[in-house]
Amino acid sequence: QNGSIRSRWRPNILVTGTPGTGKTTTSSALAEATQLRHVIVGDLVREKNLHDGWDPELESYLINEDLNYFAICDLLMEALSMHLKMVCDELEDRMEEGGNIVDYHGCDFFPERWFDRVVVLQTDNTVLYDRLTRRGYSGSKLSNNIECEIFQVLLQEAKESYPEDIVVALQSDTIEDINRNVTSLTDWVRSWRPTS
Ligand code: ADP
Ligand code: MN
Repeated sequence: QNGSIRSRWRPNILVTGTPGTGKTTTSSALAEATQLRHVIVGDLVREKNLHDGWDPELESYLINEDLNYFAICDLLMEALSMHLKMVCDELEDRMEEGGNIVDYHGCDFFPERWFDRVVVLQTDNTVLYDRLTRRGYSGSKLSNNIECEIFQVLLQEAKESYPEDIVVALQSDTIEDINRNVTSLTDWVRSWRPTS
């Protein structure tokens, strides 16, 4: 990998995809089968947000009506990406150790060197529509995610961010798909070697 020798003895896998494609279900089954550690990045970012509480500077902006809607969105995005960066910094040692399954609906800000395999889960639009509706999504939140899936945004992002030979797209429409994906990924983990 870029000519350097990897120090980890177990591989790191990124499981990504549009919300609802089955990242968390697949990752937790894979973690159980392989004893790799399931890292749910969204939960870690949420904990950071809760822990840090509300940004007083942002609050004063909001109260004083100094900012328009878009500026507020920008500030919130900035706070979120700051927390994501903090989470990434904290994950660095663990990732160097290896043996992690990272579960997140994005991939372009993780360092390329972290991963030995990038799995992009994909789901048929109508199946995904039903899953997200059941999850309580509606309106633009629902349609944005369906569009994200139709245009294969996560697959494009993964292909742009990582070497093509480590990126795999896996279908995730049914329970059988999950079983097959977990089995093939478990085989891959078992045959992985630090120099491979
Ligand atoms: P994500 O973490 O990508 O948002 P989840 O793993 O939370 O997705 O799955 C969302 C919902 O869809 C859950 O209720 C889960 O049981 C269901 N689900 C996910 N993948 C599949 C699949 N391949 N077949 C059937 N149901 C699935
Ligand atoms: Mn999830």
